Amino acid sequence: MKCPGRRRAVLGILLLCGGSIVVAGYQAPGGGRQGRGGDGAQVIQVDKLKDNLFVLRGGGGNTAVFVGSDGVTVVDTKIPGWGQPLIAKIKELTAKPVIRIINSHTHYDHVGGNVDFPTTIDIVAHANTLDNMKKALPPKGAEARVPPDVFKANNGKNMAKRTFTDKMTIGSGADRIDLYYFGRGHTNGDAWTVFPALRVMHAGDIFSGKLVPLLDSNNGGSGVEIADTLTKAGSIKDVDQIITGHSTVMTPADLKEYAEFNRDFLAYVREAKKAGKSIDEAAGGYKFPEKFPGYRAPQPDSVKNNVEVIYGELK
Ligand SMILES: [Zn+2]
Repeated sequence: MKCPGRRRAVLGILLLCGGSIVVAGYQAPGGGRQGRGGDGAQVIQVDKLKDNLFVLRGGGGNTAVFVGSDGVTVVDTKIPGWGQPLIAKIKELTAKPVIRIINSHTHYDHVGGNVDFPTTIDIVAHANTLDNMKKALPPKGAEARVPPDVFKANNGKNMAKRTFTDKMTIGSGADRIDLYYFGRGHTNGDAWTVFPALRVMHAGDIFSGKLVPLLDSNNGGSGVEIADTLTKAGSIKDVDQIITGHSTVMTPADLKEYAEFNRDFLAYVREAKKAGKSIDEAAGGYKFPEKFPGYRAPQPDSVKNNVEVIYGELK
């Protein structure tokens, strides 16, 4: 699903997909719920990308479901309360059992369903993401708008059991999954999951869509490093399709452009700081560059949040 704009924000729903911090998916008191049908049912939409790879949308971040020879790998598990509908939807797609979860990063709209899966399965994430799961700090700029920590509420159940730092390979041949870490960006634990046989990569929220990113400095995110991190991820060969954190499936060319978009923003903020501008002045003076067609114009508070994060890093 696309990163929500104003309409969903009005519904009281919050997604951590981009700087606009429309926190998605959490049922705000008195508010609506992301992905709910008219009858209140939790609706998960399935996009078949390959015969054995599906993108499941709704209820938080995009979930990748990869059906291997010995079972199913699930990348990201949506917001708290969406694990059961996710499990039910996967059962419609394959009779094979879920054997593994990969979490792209720590945010609740990507890990919330973990607790609904059996404790016997493998759960993999970057080492910093496991640390972040334990710390349970709310995302920068969305502190007051996120649900209670799902792991705390479940006595630490189904946090990552295995971690990696730079690269990890799971399985071989058609089943092979490569996990990469290229540096900080959205958080300090953004995992890139590649299915080499299918030439598809799941990016999580470090590439959530074509919009100003959420730089979650509470969880190690970096506006100084994000462009370089995105450029490094673009160097992975043999990828044709990229599953974004909250938007449509995109291409390596889109990823390259997104790196430039972030580099452009960093350059603007560096200049503003050099010129002695305050955070408010720098944020207020930001003009959305016209050379990035198809990008969503940012909300002022997301620009301010990112300026603040970068100013903090440039000290
Ligand atoms: Zn996120």
